[in-house]
Amino acid sequence: MTTVLKFGGSSVATIEQIQAISEYLQTRAAAGEKLVVVVSAMGKTTDSLLSLAKQITERPMIRELDRLLAVGEEQTISLLSIALNSRGVAAISLTGQQAGIDTMGIHTKSKIKAIRKEVLEEKLRTYDVVIVAGFQGVNEFGDVTTLGRGGSDTTAVALAAVLSKRCEIYTDVAGVYTADPRIHPTARRLDTVSYDEMMEMSALGSKVMEMRSVELAKKFDVNIFVGKTLASEGGTWIMDMTQAMEQKAVTSVSVVKNVLSVSIKHIPHSVAGVADIFEKLSQRHVNIDMISQTAFDGEVFLSFTCPLDEEAFLEEALAELTETFPQIKIDRHTEHAKISVVGIGMRDATGVAAELFATFRESGIPFYQVTTSEISISYTINEQDVEAAVAAIATRFKL
Ligand code: ADP
Ligand code: ASP
Ligand code: MG
Repeated sequence: MTTVLKFGGSSVATIEQIQAISEYLQTRAAAGEKLVVVVSAMGKTTDSLLSLAKQITERPMIRELDRLLAVGEEQTISLLSIALNSRGVAAISLTGQQAGIDTMGIHTKSKIKAIRKEVLEEKLRTYDVVIVAGFQGVNEFGDVTTLGRGGSDTTAVALAAVLSKRCEIYTDVAGVYTADPRIHPTARRLDTVSYDEMMEMSALGSKVMEMRSVELAKKFDVNIFVGKTLASEGGTWIMDMTQAMEQKAVTSVSVVKNVLSVSIKHIPHSVAGVADIFEKLSQRHVNIDMISQTAFDGEVFLSFTCPLDEEAFLEEALAELTETFPQIKIDRHTEHAKISVVGIGMRDATGVAAELFATFRESGIPFYQVTTSEISISYTINEQDVEAAVAAIATRFKL
């Protein structure tokens, strides 16, 4: 039987941790399992590599950046393989390219196009443990590409999709919780969560699983187990839950910090004007979210949010905009966070919004933008209110 496992960055941050993982893998291999192990870069290595490049230029060439960032995972695969081999376990490390992971799309945000699984199947005949570098692959030009931050989850799920239909993701928390346990320590662990809810949670800031990995899992019917590295208890299954009898309206609350809110007043009321604004932002790859627009008296009022680390690109676009429309007035708020409640039961339940507004009223926490999807409601709030808002929502909805 082949099992795909993934260990995240904080689980492989030190040699001691890598050795402890190798001991654990040895017992699993000794029990007769064939293991495909995906690993991330050690600790904060990816951040460090990124900041080295940024010391040279704010905008490094993305081809070279990918080559650099991929180094992090390559360090971990080799060290884990050294640790396993020194224990007498037949193990081999492979880069994404060597493992047959083909990618497409732009550098730093590539997608997996295909996995040539014969390569892995062949290695599994000789080795008990095949270690694959997460987060990377090779594109049609033979260049190394990366899959976007958190992308090792995607590597693991994609390998499981072609090899085993089951994937174990090991991290620094014991599963998926009703809220980030670092923000709300009394959050509860969920035994199961549906693909749709997990996708929404990931998209809204619960980075315990990278969103695209959950999308892939749903598409290819891969059941995911999320658990704490080297712990024998706990864990959450992410799976198809269309059969579940009853769904709670609200199952979890997610948070994105470092949100920049922008509002623009006095835009002349024309479709072309608004389109122009979004074109300027998209040319600079600014990731726009929570758009709302109202038109009144021949003028448009527009507001949206974007990640704070895209501020430089945003400002370039806004400067151009002021040249085109000198009458507009722009307000920015850099200390916002986005808080969202998620629940598949919201599809059928009514009154969730009313209860949320009441929660904000009772706790006296101010909010600004509000947006909704079929299974979530999101608010922008001041970053300093995040803990209090999560606690108030968790109490109200018994999370
Ligand atoms: P890894 O390095 O293993 O990939 P990540 O840091 O990407 O780990 O993801 C794990 C982190 O996700 C946890 O430390 C936790 O703070 C955060 N997190 C956010 N929301 C949730 C949630 N709802 N449940 C569990 N963890 C969450
Ligand atoms: N090392 C990469 C990152 O930090 C990929 C991952 O850990 O999943 O984003
Ligand atoms: Mg992660």
